[in-house]
Amino acid sequence: MKKIFWSMILVTASICAIAQKPLIGISTGYSASENTASVRYTYVDAVVNAGGIPVLLPLAKDSLAAAEAIERVDALILSGGEDVHPFYYGEEPASALGGVNVARDKSDRWLLQTAVKLDKAVLGICRGEQLTNVTFGGTLYQDIPSQYPNRPAVQHNQRFGGAEPVHHVNVAKDSRLYEIMQQEQLAVNSFHHQAIKEVAPDFKVVATAPDGVVEAIEGFPKYNILAVQWHPEYFAQQGDKQWIRLFEDLVLRANGNKPVIKQPNIRQPKIR
Ligand code: MN
Repeated sequence: MKKIFWSMILVTASICAIAQKPLIGISTGYSASENTASVRYTYVDAVVNAGGIPVLLPLAKDSLAAAEAIERVDALILSGGEDVHPFYYGEEPASALGGVNVARDKSDRWLLQTAVKLDKAVLGICRGEQLTNVTFGGTLYQDIPSQYPNRPAVQHNQRFGGAEPVHHVNVAKDSRLYEIMQQEQLAVNSFHHQAIKEVAPDFKVVATAPDGVVEAIEGFPKYNILAVQWHPEYFAQQGDKQWIRLFEDLVLRANGNKPVIKQPNIRQPKIR
């Protein structure tokens, strides 16, 4: 009898533990020509390794479909992909602009806007970081090699696999990113030719490459968003304990543990 009692307790406890895992929505790539929705498995494994349940979110064809999907998940990962269309930040396309995917731009923006409206936790990765910045009013360099003023820039489009880092980033100490990683310098991978130019209002830069290229932004406390220019999911898929923490932080935030970031006390100059 005692045995049955304890096994029932164990079963109940494990069901509760399963129920507590948050659903982490992952935006997916969309190919009109192949008629597919897809995402690299690195994202899926990173979420699993961090204790979340990955939920792939196919392209939303209208804002209602995006809102309905976001309502059901606890957090959103905006994954990597094509260049963001420059119309969204008021520019004409430069000749070095890469491929864009307008249907995906729309879908990702709806997902992000609903996530913010419902105060769901967001982690932006690569394109996801750029799209976040643009959605909230920032701008981009359409192409680092031809537009970035501080040259020579470090290599941001590495020519080897993503499981190996290519350049360093310097992390701001008064940031969520630093709280998570506990390091002022991180070695990261890099697969981008675009980068943030003007940072969106209410976001702050929390990591930069040695050439000054913006590599991470945060929107705390106004927006529950951390966004990075590199691909931490490659490292987290491999079981890298340090990089899994970035995804564990998303799981934490998905469970409602919002970060408290001290805002620097910036004095406004008096205007006479
Ligand atoms: Mn980079």
